[in-house]
Amino acid sequence: MKKIFYTVLLILLTASIIGCGQEQKSGDVNQIPTEVATPQDANKNTDEVPPPEPAPQAQPDKDYILANDDLSNLQLDDPTKPVYDKYIMWERQEKGLPFTLPYLEPYEAESVVYLTFDDGPDDKVTPQILDILKAENVKATFYVCGNMVETYPDVLKRIFNEGHAIGNHSYNHRYDQLYASPWSFMEQIIQTDNAIKNVIGVRPFIIRAPGGVGMFNGDYWSMIDSCGYVEHDWNALTEDATPSKPNASQQVNNVLKYLGDDPPRSVIILMHSNSDKIETVKALPEIIHFLRDWGYKFGVVTPMTPQPW
Ligand SMILES: [Zn+2]
Repeated sequence: MKKIFYTVLLILLTASIIGCGQEQKSGDVNQIPTEVATPQDANKNTDEVPPPEPAPQAQPDKDYILANDDLSNLQLDDPTKPVYDKYIMWERQEKGLPFTLPYLEPYEAESVVYLTFDDGPDDKVTPQILDILKAENVKATFYVCGNMVETYPDVLKRIFNEGHAIGNHSYNHRYDQLYASPWSFMEQIIQTDNAIKNVIGVRPFIIRAPGGVGMFNGDYWSMIDSCGYVEHDWNALTEDATPSKPNASQQVNNVLKYLGDDPPRSVIILMHSNSDKIETVKALPEIIHFLRDWGYKFGVVTPMTPQPW
């Protein structure tokens, strides 16, 4: 049975990779220029201004944990460092390396809040969120969509290089396709891992299902577990993606409402970083300040982050 599962998985993955290759003929992410030329850029080139210093690159060990081949180094004592893999899951399978994660003790040594931003990266809201996180010296987690990664690779690079965690939030976020079957869900996860790895050279273990795991049935869980991914939903939210479109102060109040009088030790807050979420940007500093005043440390989601339920 196990052999059949892996054979089917390999066929699916091969088809997925071939499919990715075909799509890339019309829009290869490797061919997307790292900087899009603008009229201002053209003017800059005529001035003899020295080019800006290149942005620092995130380094393994210092800025993030790079998984060992045998996945033996993922039990961490620092909830502020992201975890990535240098292999796509099917590469692990081809090399005969393990791709199912070992049991990891959830990190519960401190009260930690995990700020999470879904649906990006974009070139309007995400950079503003990154500016605030930098000013506040706070790390966060960005659950990105593969099609957005291919459109805004430079913003993904900035997220990575500034030490935040990147998670996989499907390729196109379309429920009708994602939830047609566990296979179609996993195909989008792998396609997005490819898009992420094409830009930053590594891929995440963490995923978030669009709409949350209420969209799953049992088959999805077994697929995710056996492919070595860890899904995290949330236990607080700003409600910034609801039709009521709360303003910044309502968003702060919404987070307070979810945390209640006895806030959990581990808090995962759902927010969004796509183009119309400007009120989220405005709410973010106050959310950070009150959580800091309450004594929370700011962490990034890793495979050892406690589940929010
Ligand atoms: Zn989403």
